[in-house]
Amino acid sequence: MTKPIALITGASRGLGRNMALHLAKRGVHIIGTYRGGAAEADALRQEIQALGTSAAMLALDVTDTKSFAAFAEKVAETLKTEFGRERFDFLVNNAGNGLFANFIEATEEQFDSLMATHLRGPTFLTQKLLPLVEDGGRILNVSSGFVRFTLPGYSLYAAAKAAVEVLTRFMAVELGARGIRVNAIAPGAIATDFGGGAVRDNENVNAYVAQGIALGRVGLPDDIGGAVTAILSEDMGWANGTTFDISGGQLL
Ligand code: NDP
Repeated sequence: MTKPIALITGASRGLGRNMALHLAKRGVHIIGTYRGGAAEADALRQEIQALGTSAAMLALDVTDTKSFAAFAEKVAETLKTEFGRERFDFLVNNAGNGLFANFIEATEEQFDSLMATHLRGPTFLTQKLLPLVEDGGRILNVSSGFVRFTLPGYSLYAAAKAAVEVLTRFMAVELGARGIRVNAIAPGAIATDFGGGAVRDNENVNAYVAQGIALGRVGLPDDIGGAVTAILSEDMGWANGTTFDISGGQLL
């Protein structure tokens, strides 16, 4: 049976990297993207190949919409040369960064940057890549627990992610005709480089966040990589147009 192919944006670090490894362990080929982390992406490519599947890493800045047409051409070429295919199966819109900005002080530049990264990027990247997504394939957008609960400093970020959840539902409606299922995940706080790595590296922040999570600890990348593999499995094929809260029960 042909192995499925997943394209994951922001695969060089954090959650995207972990998703790539979990999927590769289940026999999924990976096309990962990186922005600054070419060396990290190459290390991931080798790690995936050691697991027995293939991987290719491509440069992409999701805020640079003008580059998307050339990126789609590069993906088409990579599919042909690396995988002998014309289309891929799973698109995971994961790339992005956190930005702490109190509402009172937040600037238009910060607003534009967050919207460009978390909303405009995934919107128009998906649009450009759709001809390369198999009918019956999957799109998974990455939202955030901040859409459901609040903490000071994340209003703009959360607003962009809220829009992603709405977009997810409308994409599911329009892409259903092609059998493409579109869902989102909303991770709670996960120990990565996100937000300067505070949840992972700052003991006080880590303890403060953990006491608000029913399972008593912050999330780890493996908590998300495993969930993504499950959501993209055939067993979850009837899930469509929804957002999965993957937070260990944060701020319930
Ligand atoms: P990390 O900072 O660990 O990793 C971010 C990844 O995204 C890197 O691979 C980075 O690439 C890439 N990236 C960042 N900005 C851009 C850009 N403009 N264009 C292309 N790639 C970019 O973050 P996480 O792994 O924690 O976050 C991944 C996703 O999960 C994000 O969408 C985030 O909002 C979301 N999320 C994270 C949570 C958390 O607590 N960690 C909670 C909820 C949601 P490179 O290093 O090569 O530049």
